[in-house]
Amino acid sequence: MQFIDLAVQQRRIRSKIEANINTVLDHGKYIMGPEVGESERRLSAYAGVRHAITCSSGTDAILMALMAYNIGPGDAVLTTPFTFIATAEVISLLGATPVFVDIDPVTFNIDPVKLTDTIRNPKSEIRNLKGIIAVDLFGLPADYDRINAVAQEHGLFVIEDAAQSFGAEYHGRKACSLGDIACTSFFPAKPLGCYGDGGAVFTDDDDLAEKMLSIRIHGKGSHKYDNARVGINGRFDTIQAAILLAKLDIFPEEVEMRQKVAQIYTECIRASELELIPPAVPEGMKSVWAQYSILSKDEEHRTMIQDKLREPGIPTAIYYPIPLHLQPAFDYLGYKEGDFPISEAYSRRIFSIPMHPYLSKVEQERIVGAVGG
Ligand SMILES: *Cc1c(COP(=O)(O)O)cnc(C)c1O
Repeated sequence: MQFIDLAVQQRRIRSKIEANINTVLDHGKYIMGPEVGESERRLSAYAGVRHAITCSSGTDAILMALMAYNIGPGDAVLTTPFTFIATAEVISLLGATPVFVDIDPVTFNIDPVKLTDTIRNPKSEIRNLKGIIAVDLFGLPADYDRINAVAQEHGLFVIEDAAQSFGAEYHGRKACSLGDIACTSFFPAKPLGCYGDGGAVFTDDDDLAEKMLSIRIHGKGSHKYDNARVGINGRFDTIQAAILLAKLDIFPEEVEMRQKVAQIYTECIRASELELIPPAVPEGMKSVWAQYSILSKDEEHRTMIQDKLREPGIPTAIYYPIPLHLQPAFDYLGYKEGDFPISEAYSRRIFSIPMHPYLSKVEQERIVGAVGG
């Protein structure tokens, strides 16, 4: 059994993928070919955002967003320690300081109350606070009504790290439309993936869009050899765009299939006697279920469950085993164990089970059954 089975999906759309790739081979525009613009039009229409700008990865998407705000040495950006390294890594890469804020115990996303506490803390040494990067972890949007309100009160920007949440919804709005800029990833295992690296930024702001278009291609100005600012080589490959287009055709249907799979898991877990907490989706939100992550009682309990599942060949994964404030890469920030108790406790209790749109009910029952067996 695969943790994320991409082969079933490929069998469904293989001929379309091959046809799209053949079109690229025929026209030969491997860099910024017509498929890139076409995928941007479709992505912006889907998310309901004025501008979608594709790029080389989800990591570069966040980098481009921060660069559009001129983030650099001396600046600070708030984010969650319970995420993939990329979210905070790019803050550091630009010479700015990531400032962590613990998560909400139900949604696993940055806690808006703790966000305010961190900003208002009279003992805080944070200077030049510029913005917030909220993460839609496991495909569930963070609480943007409250996050945007905090940001507005303190004059901060909001970047939505939607690497895991393209296709999700928040009170009638689509993920990637929920902050000032949103960033997503087309890494193969994400809900909407290509067959290599890729990503996109989204914004309704014309000025920010223009900056990110420039940053994506070496800070270009009016032509290729006019460099208005320092940028990156951040383009999305034409061949990857061709693959993405084939996947976009079936994506809305796959989002619904994911709802069904998640619902069956949750029902099976609730009906069992297992001392497990299934993931919760607050009223008015739709997760795209990048991961189906469960809380066990403690680390020992988790190890026991993983062992039980390994026996019949069912893979599990831990997102994330070490919160970012305890990663060696961020030693220099001076955080210590105990600083973010929820993230720390969850890193010992959480685990994820196989999740993709094509899981059958029979497979799911086998998985939950094996946990109890
Ligand atoms: C995957 C991921 C990224 C990075 O995306 P890449 O395309 O792999 O660079 C950033 N943030 C989060 C939360 C992710 O899950």
